[in-house]
Amino acid sequence: MSSIDILSLIRQVPNYPKEGILFYDITTALENPEGLRAIMKGFIDQYRDQKIDKVIGTEARGFIFAPTLAYELGAGFVPVRKPNKLPSVTIGVNYALEYGTDRLEIHADAIKPGERVLIVDDLLATGGTAHAVTQLVTQLGGETIGFAFLLELDGLGGRDKLAGFDIFSMMTVP
Ligand code: 5GP
Repeated sequence: MSSIDILSLIRQVPNYPKEGILFYDITTALENPEGLRAIMKGFIDQYRDQKIDKVIGTEARGFIFAPTLAYELGAGFVPVRKPNKLPSVTIGVNYALEYGTDRLEIHADAIKPGERVLIVDDLLATGGTAHAVTQLVTQLGGETIGFAFLLELDGLGGRDKLAGFDIFSMMTVP
């Protein structure tokens, strides 16, 4: 347990990005030196003793945590990005959103068969994004050893969507 209340540092923005959505804005926690330190320590402490080859950060806010965590664990960092952002050969997966679909891509050579992979993002809601990322890992022959989130929104089905996987959420809100 951190002595600092990270949740209180996260700004809640009503009606963003659209009417009726309460958006958890993590930038206010990141700009606080003690907040940033507590967040990174929380992730590092959780995975310090695990053998992890690659830490995936999902665009965009997963990029904030994954490289530092990978550095501390002696692992490599791999970005999963929105379409047409990665320069070399990619594989991709389409996944459903509330309205429409989205797509995520990874470099085809970024994960080697048998590598142990941790997937990091800022927030777990429905689990659609995280589920798509683990499909990419599986396609490349990697093993998803778990998911790490700063914040989990309870009751949106994210845990069920990722059933069978190890999930670490630093904080959960109803
Ligand atoms: P899911 O795919 O689990 O429904 O949604 C999670 C994804 O949407 C994550 O990539 C996360 O960055 C983004 N997201 C959804 N809602 C929020 C929110 O309230 N705050 C932040 N920071 N990200 C959100």
